[in-house]
Amino acid sequence: MGFGVRQLPLLESESIKMIRYAIDHGVNYLDLGCPYDMRQHERLTRLIGRALQDGYRQKIRVAASLPAFLINASPDFERYLNNQLTWLQTDRIDFFLLSGLNRETWPRLQGLDILSRAEGAMRDGRIDRPGFSFHDDFQTLRGILDAYDNWALCQFQYSYMDVDHHPGVGGLKYAADKGLAVVIAEPLRWGRLTKEPPESVAKVWASASQERKLSEWGLRWVWNHPEVATVVSDMSTMEQVVENVALAGSAEADSLTVQEQVLISRVRDAYRKLSSIPCTACRGCMPCPEGIDVPRIFELYNDAIMYGDVETARSIYRIEQHSTDSCNECGACVKACGKEITIPDWLKKAHQLLAEHG
Ligand code: SF4
Ligand code: SF4
Repeated sequence: MGFGVRQLPLLESESIKMIRYAIDHGVNYLDLGCPYDMRQHERLTRLIGRALQDGYRQKIRVAASLPAFLINASPDFERYLNNQLTWLQTDRIDFFLLSGLNRETWPRLQGLDILSRAEGAMRDGRIDRPGFSFHDDFQTLRGILDAYDNWALCQFQYSYMDVDHHPGVGGLKYAADKGLAVVIAEPLRWGRLTKEPPESVAKVWASASQERKLSEWGLRWVWNHPEVATVVSDMSTMEQVVENVALAGSAEADSLTVQEQVLISRVRDAYRKLSSIPCTACRGCMPCPEGIDVPRIFELYNDAIMYGDVETARSIYRIEQHSTDSCNECGACVKACGKEITIPDWLKKAHQLLAEHG
């Protein structure tokens, strides 16, 4: 099991206690997350550095990230890596992830020859192996995997709601077949799969033959895949840490029964019936000349409606710095969309709902 640090409590002593308890009970991967906000990231990384004193650094593998969307020149690699090494009080990071790779950011990083920088950092010992985190479709993932032989791991979002996109079960199997460790992020979709479900979904859960917490169903479904190396869970309380490490200790691949898998498929179908925009996240409409990430914005909008949770969608929209203000209604995306979605109209609706003061 992996520990995601983004939701650690503000009280430093409690955060350190949680991290050390997790490591003492078998958690062996710590993900520092993507530095969207550098000040916040520095505070958090320095805290992790203190938590990993007293011998804890040697007991855990740490993954730090290079935010692909903020990299404009090759030397940025050194700045992001060296800052994080300093803040962590370490001279080596186990995995350095190119974070946020997709069909737009990957060619740009290739053009900046970032992998040569990564190779240099491996040679001088600052990183053990490079990896990447990813948000796009299966074809794009395959292109990235096939372009470089030395990837150690890839990390992407996967839950029972993501089985056929992002890049879905096909991506999971392809990456594992290539020998990469596949790290799963957001197994509970930012906690939305643990919230009180809408009525139609609750009815499906009520037919389950055994009672489990929604978080346990979600995590067990991901762990059921033998291709998954680890699952990163962002934990915010000691209670969650205790619960999750106990669950990880008892979860096994291929342990869900056929009936349990069918139940989860029915839950998925019930959720999907609630979505508003028929976007399949195929990304055929991308890139937008104005830099608008249409499928991601549609996903956030659909999630807000499906899970009845506008606040989480709003906060992701803000963290990922989306906006639709630059849309000039050129229509290029509409022409490319096989689903004939009236994209600029839906973008306006989405922005209205998701912009902080929408
Ligand atoms: S209509 Fe708007 S979102 Fe679509 S390609 Fe043009 S600028 Fe981008
Ligand atoms: S808007 Fe259309 S083309 Fe774009 S990702 Fe969604 S379904 Fe695909």
